Amino acid sequence: MTKMGRAAVMTAQKKDLEFIEYPLPEVEKGCILVKITCCTICGSDVHSWLGHRPAPVPIILGHEIVGKIVELGRGVTHDSADRSLRVGDRVTWTIMDNCGKCYYCRDKGLPMKCQNLKKYGHDSCETPPHFKGGFAEYCYITPGTCVFKVPDSLTDEEVAPANCALGTVIAAWEAAEVKPFENVLIQGAGALGFYASALASHYGCRKIIVTDILDHRLDFIKRFGATDTINVRNMKDDEIVDAIKSLTDDHGVDCAMEVAGVPGLIPLGLKCLRIGGRFVEVGCAFPGADFTYDACDIIFRRLTIRGIHNYDARHLKAGLDLLEMRQKDFPFREIVTHRISLDDINKGLRIAESGEAVRVAVIM
Ligand SMILES: [Zn+2]
Ligand SMILES: [Zn+2]
Repeated sequence: MTKMGRAAVMTAQKKDLEFIEYPLPEVEKGCILVKITCCTICGSDVHSWLGHRPAPVPIILGHEIVGKIVELGRGVTHDSADRSLRVGDRVTWTIMDNCGKCYYCRDKGLPMKCQNLKKYGHDSCETPPHFKGGFAEYCYITPGTCVFKVPDSLTDEEVAPANCALGTVIAAWEAAEVKPFENVLIQGAGALGFYASALASHYGCRKIIVTDILDHRLDFIKRFGATDTINVRNMKDDEIVDAIKSLTDDHGVDCAMEVAGVPGLIPLGLKCLRIGGRFVEVGCAFPGADFTYDACDIIFRRLTIRGIHNYDARHLKAGLDLLEMRQKDFPFREIVTHRISLDDINKGLRIAESGEAVRVAVIM
C-alpha cells in the first residue's frame, strides 16, 4: 500500500488552507525524501496567501524548512559541504532547485534566476511528487537543490529562517560590498533587519543604524548589534536624514538596506547615503512598489542601487555558519515568537499577517 502524507494546501487566495493527503513519491536517483520538523512562515507566504503576489494553485506554501532525512535516492551520499549524509540526519536546503546549465546558471552567476527554476513553496502541488512546500509532513528534494546538514548545536527554529531571510540578507550585504568600519543603515527592524544587523556587526561595521516605527522592535535589534536606533514614526524625511548625518560625521552612511517592504523608504534611504554610497533593496518583493527619485542626485552623488531577490547556495551555507559562530552573541533563538502545529496553520497565517509575530514556526 502506498504511504500517504498530509499537506496544508492553498486552493484559492485568501481562503483557509485545506488538508489534503497525497501519496509519498518513490524516491528517485539524486532525490531525498525529508520528514519536515519545522517550517517558519515567511512574509512572502503571507503575501501569496493574501493575493499580493501571484501564486499557482493548488500550492503547498512554506519555504523556510528544516527536516530529517527519511530516504536517500540513489547516488546521494554527501551534502553540498561534502559531509556524508545518512537517513535520520537533520538538513535544510536552498529555496530553489536550479538546472546549472542554462544562461543564468552557467554564464551569469544567477542560479536563483535559472530558466528552469523550481522553488519550494512556490510551485503548484497538483502533480507528483506533490510535496514541494513546507506546510506539510514531508518534502521531496530534487537533484538541483543544495542540501546542508544542520549542526547539532542549532535548534530547528534557529535554522529554518536561514533558508530565506538570512540567506537573502547575506546576499544583500555582499551585493552592497559592506566593509569593516563602514557605517550602515538598516530600514526595518523585522526578521530581515535582525539578521542584517547581526551580520553588519559580525563584519565589523562601525555604526549600525536602524530605523523602524515600533519601539519594542528597536529595543530588540540592539541585541543583534545595532549601535543606534531611531523611531521614525513622527519624523519628517528631512529630520531623519539629518539624524543619520549627525551619527556619521555629517557624511551619511556607506550602505543602506531596505527590509521593511515600504516603497517610500527607498528615496529616504538613498538620501541617507554618503557620496558614492550603495543602496540594496530587499523588502519590496511585490509588484506595484513604485517610487520616484531625482536621477540627478544618483549621478552627482555617484550612488549605486542593487536589487536582491533570493540567494545562492553559498549564502545559505554562510548563514548556517553565522548562526553557529555567533549563537551566543545574538538572540537568534528568539526570532521565532510563536509556535503552532500543522493543524493550526490557518491560525498561524493570521498571526503572521497581524504583524504581532516576528516569525511563526510550524512545528511538526
Ligand atoms: Zn521567504
Ligand atoms: Zn538554470
